[in-house]
Amino acid sequence: MSERKNKDKQNIKQSVSSNSSKRSLVILGSTGSIGRSTLRVLDEHPGRFDVIALAAYSDVTRIVEQAAKVHPKYIYMGDPVAAEFLQGEPISQECEILTGKENITMLAGLPEVDMVVNALVGAAGLMASLTAVEKGKYLALANKESLVVGGSLFEEIANRTGAHILPIDSEHSAIWQCLSAGKDSEVRRLILTASGGPFRELDKSMFKDVTREDALNHPTWKMGPKVTIDSATMMNKGLELIEAVWLFSIPPEMVSIVVHPQSIVHSMVEYVDSSIVAQMSAPDMKLPINYALFWPERLPSDFGRLDFTELGELTFAKPDVDKFPAINLAYNAAVMGGTAPAVLNAANEVAVDAFLLGRIGFTDITDIIEKTLTSHSLVEKPSLLDIMEADSRSREVAETFIQ
Ligand code: MG
Repeated sequence: MSERKNKDKQNIKQSVSSNSSKRSLVILGSTGSIGRSTLRVLDEHPGRFDVIALAAYSDVTRIVEQAAKVHPKYIYMGDPVAAEFLQGEPISQECEILTGKENITMLAGLPEVDMVVNALVGAAGLMASLTAVEKGKYLALANKESLVVGGSLFEEIANRTGAHILPIDSEHSAIWQCLSAGKDSEVRRLILTASGGPFRELDKSMFKDVTREDALNHPTWKMGPKVTIDSATMMNKGLELIEAVWLFSIPPEMVSIVVHPQSIVHSMVEYVDSSIVAQMSAPDMKLPINYALFWPERLPSDFGRLDFTELGELTFAKPDVDKFPAINLAYNAAVMGGTAPAVLNAANEVAVDAFLLGRIGFTDITDIIEKTLTSHSLVEKPSLLDIMEADSRSREVAETFIQ
């Protein structure tokens, strides 16, 4: 971890000296929950950013509204039909309308861009993240799947190019903030908090009857469907464990998970003297976004402001790994390393899609992931090609288990 900190210190010097200059930004996934919150944060700090590009899948109404406010040079639509529709709209006079996967990576690598906000969903975000890091940019990362799938590749590239990966995930933002309380060599463990999702108190025998609507009803966070289902299975915490391993260069056995249903403590760091440092706020993603966008500055904001006298009780419990097998599946994949996390992630994406489409039941999600992992032959030190092959092969294998 020490290398990361030294790099951070160098970067603080650079950033402080260029405080007055604007950062130019690309927002990938601008119409989703994180993208919309990012634009809300930018609203609070006018003049600090130039938005060069907005990218989304198919929500043309929302992206036109966003573009009218921030005047990007480019609009990217993942859905070619949506892109074609925009070509015929007045907005096409003001910005270039793009589609096609290669243009997502083109946008992430644009020379005039300082920071890429990657809020794409799933492994689809990997190439954009790798490009941003290869080009030495600030990568404000909400797409945790990038790190889960390609974690081993990022470290080497970021060390070479001086890029910075700034987490937008609330737990990792919390750990990142807590790590400034001590030296990396003084860290005993990271403690990831988990809300426990909507089924924390539901008896395991009822899991087979869980519907899509039950699973999409998260108690504390309003998020997109993929991450909400991941929260219901607790795979989200499993993916976050792997994300933490790569982000903070720490072995999986130094990361603990604790269930904290109120989502006020966003995660903690325990130091060798048994002191635990926590980061707290009301649950509001705009706070970690604000921190990442302006880092190493901490800019004023009222997002997630907390009044302890109104708070009531904060509770903590051990996660039930029997009820939520996703936690151990992810932990084991982290320990195996190599292509295992990519396989876990691919099978999860396919299974979550199938559940959302009503093709499989809730408990089938983790069964399919387990079977896909078992049938995979591990590549220990994978190249990008190995990772991409493991990803696409595992999608096919998971699909056969669904059928
Ligand atoms: Mg999170």
